[in-house]
Amino acid sequence: MKSTQPRTALAAVALAFALGPATAQDPPRPTRDELARDSKLFLTLAGKLMKWEEPTEPVRIAGPVHFVGTTGLGAYLLATADGHVLLNTGMPSSGPMIVESIAKLGFKVKDVKVIITGHAHVDHVGALAYVKEQTGAAVAVMREDVKAVEDGGKDDFHYGRDWKVMGFPPCKVDRVLRDKDTIKLGDVTLTAHHTPGHTRGATTWVASVVADGKPLVVAWPDGGGINPGYRLANDPSYPGIADDYRRTHHFWEMLKPDVFLQAHTEAFDFAEKRKLAKAEGVAAWRNAEEYRRWVAAKKRAFEDQMDEEMKATKPAK
Ligand SMILES: [Zn+2]
Repeated sequence: MKSTQPRTALAAVALAFALGPATAQDPPRPTRDELARDSKLFLTLAGKLMKWEEPTEPVRIAGPVHFVGTTGLGAYLLATADGHVLLNTGMPSSGPMIVESIAKLGFKVKDVKVIITGHAHVDHVGALAYVKEQTGAAVAVMREDVKAVEDGGKDDFHYGRDWKVMGFPPCKVDRVLRDKDTIKLGDVTLTAHHTPGHTRGATTWVASVVADGKPLVVAWPDGGGINPGYRLANDPSYPGIADDYRRTHHFWEMLKPDVFLQAHTEAFDFAEKRKLAKAEGVAAWRNAEEYRRWVAAKKRAFEDQMDEEMKATKPAK
């Protein structure tokens, strides 16, 4: 593995367990292949290492945008005078933490009107059904992920066969989204950009908001992660997956957000930024340059895997 790997859950798990400095006391570390073969191992290790189920304090980020997730998983509340939008819900265990975080910020849980998501995997839609029930909000999902959300993950192209391990409580979808559909609530407009690859319906959400009297473009890019066991070129995980990733990268290169946030907190150094924000305010969250580096790293990881798969299929001379 190269040092250019992006800091995703996958990369971090692979790095920590396959490449990290081993000590005599450490248990044997699984390889990427072992993680690919054993979804339960992958899920357990990623969750533990990235603190997916550990609570953390909620915080206002910029204007209407608030963080209400866990230590490792991003969930975001966009609060308006006409009701609120919630993006992502984390693991099944995260539901009560998110609801509590919304209340801690001084908002009424029943004022959440719409729940949206980046993609239909257990670490982002795990508590969708619970939070929908608690809030009475409408759930809006990109068309290609609707079936997976409603059947608890059985429709997922990769984890569907492992749904007993990787599944989540099913949730009824109220609004089916297509590329470029918008959600408007109060003075917030969110646009859903279909950016598939990681799941068929992965969605990059982009919001135009006002923070400190100034317009701000906030983006949550989603859909670029390549999990252990995904195949892009050689017997692809689904037909057209490589082209989907390429189109997603192309869209991200066109996008120019002022602030980029993530469903995985380590991917944009949330812990460090929230510390800086105490003194710097919104400026601490402005990370346009970090976004460009992140997109470049995602592309590189994709090309690296393509190269590896092509090498593997080349006939021996
Ligand atoms: Zn995922």
